[in-house]
Amino acid sequence: MPGRRRGGARLKADLHIHSSVSDGKPAPEEVVLEAEARGLDVIAITDHDSFEGSLRARRFARARGSELLVLVGAEVRTEQGDVLVLCGANAPERVPRRLDELIDVAHGSGCLVVAAHPFDVRRYGVGGRLYDYRWDAIEVFNAMSDPLSNERARQAAQQLGVPGLASSDAHVADAIGSAYTLVDAELSEDDVLDAIRAGRVKPVAGRPSIVALAKTVAWSVGRRLGLHDRRRLSKIEELGELM
Ligand SMILES: [Zn+2]
Ligand SMILES: [Zn+2]
Repeated sequence: MPGRRRGGARLKADLHIHSSVSDGKPAPEEVVLEAEARGLDVIAITDHDSFEGSLRARRFARARGSELLVLVGAEVRTEQGDVLVLCGANAPERVPRRLDELIDVAHGSGCLVVAAHPFDVRRYGVGGRLYDYRWDAIEVFNAMSDPLSNERARQAAQQLGVPGLASSDAHVADAIGSAYTLVDAELSEDDVLDAIRAGRVKPVAGRPSIVALAKTVAWSVGRRLGLHDRRRLSKIEELGELM
């Protein structure tokens, strides 16, 4: 698609993805390769309470001269609920757990604060507190959330006049880009963040494929049983050697 990336073009952005730095399956580097393969222009890895995955992905993308723009991000579990912090090149220096403080610190570093799956109680959304804070954007469609929660988020964003994002909340590679946001911006961190603030966005809903869902379930069940825990595996191997 010539001209897709430049001059008022619409960038395809998935800004809520997990990697192996928190509870996702793919390593940050694999997320980059998968996002490229799926034709995304912008991603943010948003591991739980950690910017490390996004920083690693960003270094990797740059080192291989990728056209993929990797924003620095994290999904922070505040006392009020889950929020996404999306930044250009640098993470904020502190990550307070109180939402009002986090918003101040994030804004001080030029980052955006986005309410993640606000009405999904299972996923620890901020719920009715959505109305008590000033958001740069609201996740109005989360591909792993139920339709009612998503619909409530969409209506709230409209009521509040806050831009809406759609994202995959992928924990496995196959789910990356299942939902995404079209952003009217040049391919640069500042321009993408500005465009989101200004509401030059269009959320595009979508669900992961059956295969991606099956892999997500297998992954999360396995993780809860400790099957993927490398330390635990090596302990078992050690025991095996001793016995
Ligand atoms: Zn969450
Ligand atoms: Zn998430």
